[in-house]
Parts: sequence; C-alpha cells; structure tokens
Amino acid sequence: MIPQSFIDDIQTRTDIVEVISSYIPLKRAGRNFKANCPFHGEKTPSFMISPQKQIFHCFGCGEGGGVIQFLMMHEKMTFVEAVEILAKRLGIEIPHQSTEKDRFKNIIYTCLDEASLFFHKALLEDASARPVIDYLNKRGITLETIKKFRIGYSLGRNTLIEYMRKKNLTLEILERSSLAISQGEAYRDLFRERVMFPIFDIRSRVIGFGARTWRQGDTAPKYINSIENQVYSKRDHLFGFNFSKDDIAKADCVIVVEGYLDMIMPYVSGIKNIVASLGTALTVEQIRLIRRYTNNVTLVYDSDKAGQMATLRALDLLLENDLKVKVVSLPQGFDPDSLVRSKPKEESIRVFSDKKDFFDYKVSILSKMHDIESIEGKTKIAQEIFSTLNKLNSEIEKYEYIKKLSFTLRVKEEILIAEFKKIFPKKEVKSPQPANLQTKELFSIAEKIILKFMFSNKKAFPLIRKNLREEDFSYPLARKTVSYFLKNYNDSTDMTCNKVLGAIEDKEISGFISKILLEEDIPLENEVFKSSILKLRQHRARLSMDKLKQDIKEAEVKGEKDRLKVLINKFDKITSEVKNA
Ligand SMILES: [Zn+2]
Repeated sequence: MIPQSFIDDIQTRTDIVEVISSYIPLKRAGRNFKANCPFHGEKTPSFMISPQKQIFHCFGCGEGGGVIQFLMMHEKMTFVEAVEILAKRLGIEIPHQSTEKDRFKNIIYTCLDEASLFFHKALLEDASARPVIDYLNKRGITLETIKKFRIGYSLGRNTLIEYMRKKNLTLEILERSSLAISQGEAYRDLFRERVMFPIFDIRSRVIGFGARTWRQGDTAPKYINSIENQVYSKRDHLFGFNFSKDDIAKADCVIVVEGYLDMIMPYVSGIKNIVASLGTALTVEQIRLIRRYTNNVTLVYDSDKAGQMATLRALDLLLENDLKVKVVSLPQGFDPDSLVRSKPKEESIRVFSDKKDFFDYKVSILSKMHDIESIEGKTKIAQEIFSTLNKLNSEIEKYEYIKKLSFTLRVKEEILIAEFKKIFPKKEVKSPQPANLQTKELFSIAEKIILKFMFSNKKAFPLIRKNLREEDFSYPLARKTVSYFLKNYNDSTDMTCNKVLGAIEDKEISGFISKILLEEDIPLENEVFKSSILKLRQHRARLSMDKLKQDIKEAEVKGEKDRLKVLINKFDKITSEVKNA
C-alpha cells in the first residue's frame, strides 16, 4: 500500500503538461493545451490539457483524468506502476508501508535474483558447464541469447546452498524460495545439473525457474519448475512478458506459445511480440495481463494432439474474455522452437504470420475427428462449434459464424440457428428499473452543476452528502461517480485540486470528471449550486408523492382505513418538506 498522502504529494509536484509533452507534441490553445489524441486516431485535435486543473480530456473518445491516468493508459501501467514512475522522475523513494510479509517477500526476491546470477555465472565460467554450452550452441542458443535471458546452469552438489550461506541467506529462505529442499535433517539443492531458465515477472524480477535436462538419454523428467511460493504462482505470469511487452503493444498482437524455448527462439530470430504460458493451460489471470497490452492473440501451440486440445481450450477462454483469437497451425511434428531452428528465417516468419481465424481452425480440427459428410458428423461438429460461438458476446458475430458454418456443413442457416437457440436459450436480460424512467439517460444541468461544484468548492461535498443520495442522480455515470465519492471520501477531503482525481482507478469515472471540468464553463455561483441541489430533492419528492398518490387511491378502493391514515400523513410530510426546503 502506498500512502494516499504520498500520492497527493507526487501529483502536486508533477506538472501534467510536462509529462504529457514528453510523449506527444502539444500546442497552446488559450489557457489550455491541445494535441491529437494518442488514444484514438484523429487529424484535428480534440485532446485537451488544462495546466490549471492538471487534467486532460479527449472530447473525441472520452478518455480523461489526471497525470496518473494518462500514464496508466499510455504506458499500459497499473496504478502503482504509474505512481512509481512519477516518484522516480522526482527522484523520491516510495514510503511503502511495509509489513512483515512484504519484508519477507523482498528477501525472497533478493534470494531468487542472487540464485539466477549464480547459475548464470556457473554456466559461463564453470569448467563442468563446458559441455552444456556446447549443447546449447548446438540447439541454436548463442552466447548472446544466454546473456539476454540470463540462462544458467545448476551445478548441484549443494553449491547453491554453500554460496547463499556466504550471502547470509538462510536455509529457510532457500526453501521458501523453492531453491532447496529438506531431506530429514539435511537440505540439498533442488536443481541439480540442469539448464536454468529464470522466470521474470513483468517488472523483470526473478520469481522462479524452469530447469531442463540436457544430457542425451537422461531419464529424469525433461523439465522441473519452481514450486509455487510467496512470489510465484504460474497462473499469474507469462514467460518472457518482461522482454516482449513493448513489442506486443507496438504490434497490437501477442503470440502465445507453450514452452520456454518456444518463446526464446522465435524472439531472438526477430518475432518479438511473443510470450509462453509457463506449461499450464492459459488462465484468466494471464489473459488479464495480456489485455493490458493488446486485444489480439495468436495461439501457436505444438502440432500434436495435446497441442490441438490445448489450443481449443485456450481459444474458448480467450473468446469468453472478449479477445480476438487467431491460430497458427505448425507443420506436422514441429513446435515453435524446432521450426525456427530448422527453417530459414523468412519461412518461419511466413509460418507465424499465416494465421487462421479461430473458427476455421476449429472446423479443420473437428472435420478430421468426425465425418463431415455424415449426419452424425455434421451434428457433432455443429455442437462443438456452437459451444465456442456461445462464448462470443456479439450477436452479430454469432450470426456471421453460423452463416459460415451453414456453408461448411451444407446445412440450412435457419436450422442451425434453431438448433443453437435450443442448446443455448437466451437468458432473459433484466434491465434495472429505476423509478424515474423518463429521465434515466439525461444528464440534467442540475446534476452537472452539482458535480462541477463538488470539484471546485471545498464546502460543496459536505452539503451534497447532507442533502442528497446517490439515487437522486439519474444519469448513470453521475450516479456512479457520486456513489464512489460518498463511499471513499469523507467531508474533510479537499476535492478542488487534482489530487483526488489522481487516486481514481476507474477509467469511466476519471474520464467523466475530466470532461465535466474541461467543458464550457457553467457559472459556478453558490446560489446556482444550492438551487440545483433543491431541484434534485424536489424531483425525488415528486416521485415519492406520485407513488403515494397511487397507494392512497388503492387504499381508498380497498377501504383500508389505517393504512390510508399512514399514507396521508406521509404525503403531508413530504409536501411540507418540499415547501420549506
Ligand atoms: Zn481520444
């Protein structure tokens, strides 16, 4: 946790104009600056920056916020990463409120880093590693690659334990870093005589290792990996991402492969937007990581049966998470590593760019498994394809693919659609029912004034809390914004500066606020603010009076005297409240 006061401080000391101008050229426009928006393609600038308010907003695509939001969007960073960058720029340390757990985590990071350097040095310098270097060279792994990926060699014979002892890293830490294991009383190095691939997290910290055998005819398992520990869980990371993330953003596409060398070999041969899924089926956490950089995924798994099944599973999960998926089928018997090693560069690049739409890929796999001419085969294929199409969120896409399927299977479209609907009946989507339906989508001038006032006058927020509820705002984003502030801030918060804006992680809210603040000026007078609050309260009263009138009528008809009394009392109370407000 970074203390809020520190985030405030950093923002106060940072000039948004300076930061943004280091990424894109800015032009003066009166009190503000303008630029072509970096978040959507445009030729006439609608991207505005206010030095006074320290915010930006694009009137074209609606993105907006403070300097932290700009970095988060432009550099695809998390909130914390953006704060770290700004702190670094100012040359100040982040005062992490570190707990015992954090401290221990840091020791583990140190330990893993030390270990990776130890293994790396051993590979490059230890005499016993000579044949390993030869082996790696034969596999096309050059010295340059070894250095780039910090590939190493574990000598075994407890050399790591010995080395760490000198660095004052205890056996307990080694065990918790999954570098040593205990055998009764004694401990021994977990990795022995293996090629070591350090696994880095996205911030290039070593979090674990993949360890590979190298001797011909070795009967031990080909790979062993770090046991999951406090800093490493395989479902949260992608191998190679720290190296390739910028290229992924630039290419707006990521190639996902399975193994370490499947990532490394294409990467060094120039296919740089690539990551490996650490020997697991692709996980939702990994997909979230990917989505920070791109929405386009190309799967390149082994061409064998297991690889095909893994591809089909990954494909469904990606579609379900709204990513666009393509698949590269490698020639029989190849994986990405062996392909790059055995084919000329141009040909590998050609194979990697020969992408199939997920649909065509799945159909081609299924038509090998089932007889596409038989009724039974057609049914099976249709069912399998349906289950994938059902993951798509767009009805148009679903329909377009069903049309394609109709052509492939030579079954009428209507029949396929009927069948699809039978298997996946559409769930009734319940729309939320606000009381005031007519005004639901309208952002009334009163709501706008209240929000604008909230960020310009210190006294506004307590008054809003006292007089209004979030339901009083009918425009959905206004309601969301007010609810966010009522929940997260107290009345003493000063919202008149950019500090508050900088703390918002929700893009929708920050874009909305920057828009209100940069829009044409509404007169910000106390009286206007107060009358706007009154307007919302009167509106609320009117709605409940309408409801009461109905109830009263009902009670009259049914002759419920007691209830009628209560209702009329309520009605009178509200009426006088509105009059005296
Ligand atoms: Zn824009």
